[in-house]
Amino acid sequence: MSPDTLHTEMPLTANSPFELRTHLGDAVPETDARAAVASGDLGFIHSFTTGSAVDGPGVRVVVWTAGCMWRCAYCHNPDTWTMRNGMPVTIGRATEELSKYRHGLKVMKGGLTLSGGEPLMQHRFAVKLLQAARDMGIHTAIETNGYYGSRLSDAELGDIDLVLLGLKTWGDARHKALTGMEYGPTLDFARRLAALGRPVWVRFVLVPGLTDDPGDISHIASFAAGLGNVERVDVLPFHQMGRYKWERLGLDYGLAGTQPPSADATEHVCQVFRDAGLTAY
Ligand code: SF4
Repeated sequence: MSPDTLHTEMPLTANSPFELRTHLGDAVPETDARAAVASGDLGFIHSFTTGSAVDGPGVRVVVWTAGCMWRCAYCHNPDTWTMRNGMPVTIGRATEELSKYRHGLKVMKGGLTLSGGEPLMQHRFAVKLLQAARDMGIHTAIETNGYYGSRLSDAELGDIDLVLLGLKTWGDARHKALTGMEYGPTLDFARRLAALGRPVWVRFVLVPGLTDDPGDISHIASFAAGLGNVERVDVLPFHQMGRYKWERLGLDYGLAGTQPPSADATEHVCQVFRDAGLTAY
């Protein structure tokens, strides 16, 4: 049976990434899954969503990949942590789906954003899909935590129009507590993108009581400003839209009582980035 016929009841497109999707790739044998990830001929995808105005310039198609090795305390999409939760989709089918939107994306000055999960968990598939988008003349962006940035060659990075890089907090101990992983590889990737002159938008999620330490934010701002290739910073207010996923997946969610930041608090953080010389929204 072809992987693309395994889940015909589940549409590839979703209304939003907040749709809970699990176990869609379970039927793919382990050896096939490993070979697919190595070749990039098959990807495990949570969904396609259309019409996003917040994941890069213009109006965009976002492909949400499954698989992430981080465990951010505020993650909105913990169903994307496990690659096998994603739908197995051949690169051909993913390209065909994307091609449906090619003209609209150009009219709306948008493009394709590959997000997740962590798209570089399936870096060969990511490279192939981004290349297919470029071949169609579609602007390409990837949203990543940067941890596996070293999996991409300089030439492959040169083919990505924009990197949306998540900077979560500052300092290794705090970063490990927040994400479960060390900070160094993300900073190394940020510096490498700067050395290559590749455009970056920094994404920072503001979570009251968790990522709102003024000293940490100042450090992130001065680091980002010093890179020289950061075109803008998106300060993203924490919200609770992913809470039900944690509950449905039986995960221990530590932020059930955390409120979104106020508009004033979010604006204040934007101002810290602006004071460092960056454009922030
Ligand atoms: S890096 Fe993104 S997908 Fe992975 S745990 Fe953190 S917020 Fe979730």
